[in-house]
Amino acid sequence: DDRIVSAEWSREDTTLDSIRPRFLDDYIGQRTVKDNLKIFIQAARERGESLDHVLLYGPPGLGKTSLAMIIANELGVHVRVTSGPAIERAGDLAALLTNLQPGDVLFIDEIHRLSRSVEEVLYPAMEDFSLDIMIGKGPSARSVRLDLPPFTLVGATTRAGLLSAPLRDRFGVILHLDYYPIDELAEIVRRSADVLQVAITPNACMEIARRARGTPRIANRLLKRVRDIVQVSGRDLIDDGAADDALTRLNVDKLGLDSVDERILLAAIDKFGGGPVGLETLAAAIGEESDTLEDVYEPYLLQMGLLKRTPRGRVVTAQGYRHLGRPVPSADGN
Ligand code: ADP
Repeated sequence: DDRIVSAEWSREDTTLDSIRPRFLDDYIGQRTVKDNLKIFIQAARERGESLDHVLLYGPPGLGKTSLAMIIANELGVHVRVTSGPAIERAGDLAALLTNLQPGDVLFIDEIHRLSRSVEEVLYPAMEDFSLDIMIGKGPSARSVRLDLPPFTLVGATTRAGLLSAPLRDRFGVILHLDYYPIDELAEIVRRSADVLQVAITPNACMEIARRARGTPRIANRLLKRVRDIVQVSGRDLIDDGAADDALTRLNVDKLGLDSVDERILLAAIDKFGGGPVGLETLAAAIGEESDTLEDVYEPYLLQMGLLKRTPRGRVVTAQGYRHLGRPVPSADGN
């Protein structure tokens, strides 16, 4: 997926590592989440214990990985980073766990994608800091219990409901990250510009923020592309005009929609009279998987009120018509 407004991680984002916030004070927004974490971290530090396991859930690009690293930095411990799909066998997880030092953070991204057998190793590890391993095969096989150093598991997932109940129950702290309001995104853009040593006006920060789909990862990516375009055009300040030109050239419209989003809305309008149209049917009409449509494209269109879900299918709202410059049907079901 190479959309510039995609919230999914892309290879290029690794270079953004320098602008990843490192401590809670650099982490902008998500007040409630930060306030809670601050207390739990301080309490754990005062007791000299490891922090309780933390589950972070919310859409991609909102700062879950960053928070895991911040938790480790604030605790003054190491962090090991892995992901559900990367841990193929129970032995892989056992190796990771036995290599931790007391108090370390183990971050598992996409934790809902762990296999059942790996998950079962995780239960006693999370609960008692112990590992049950089988030695031998057949009738002589026996189980041996190993002690692990106390550690903090930080798990990340897009929806908490994707986790099995026994896994979810083993997290002492469950925190939800939501899309960022525009003023916080503007603040993130300003901070990133500082780190990258790019000159930018407050209005230009807002212009980028408005089109970043509530997502810091997208805001940072747009900032970098705008910087490229402005630099090549021989200017050294990003003002709102320059940001607007650059973003228009990148085909990111005023609301942060790109051509895929437009295709979705236009298909719903032109082929299905604006809906209601079933998810599968709409996905087929634009040549996408229905899962992708539901998880990747649709949430932002719903959030912006351009599309809505009804029991009979998706419906383009009056605002959706207006945004595309189409006349709003008079006897609408909106
Ligand atoms: P996730 O793990 O949820 O997909 P990341 O933690 O990788 O998201 O965040 C994506 C990028 O957005 C990071 O590179 C980071 O620079 C930036 N970012 C995320 N949240 C914040 C925040 N609250 N303040 C500042 N920058 C942020």
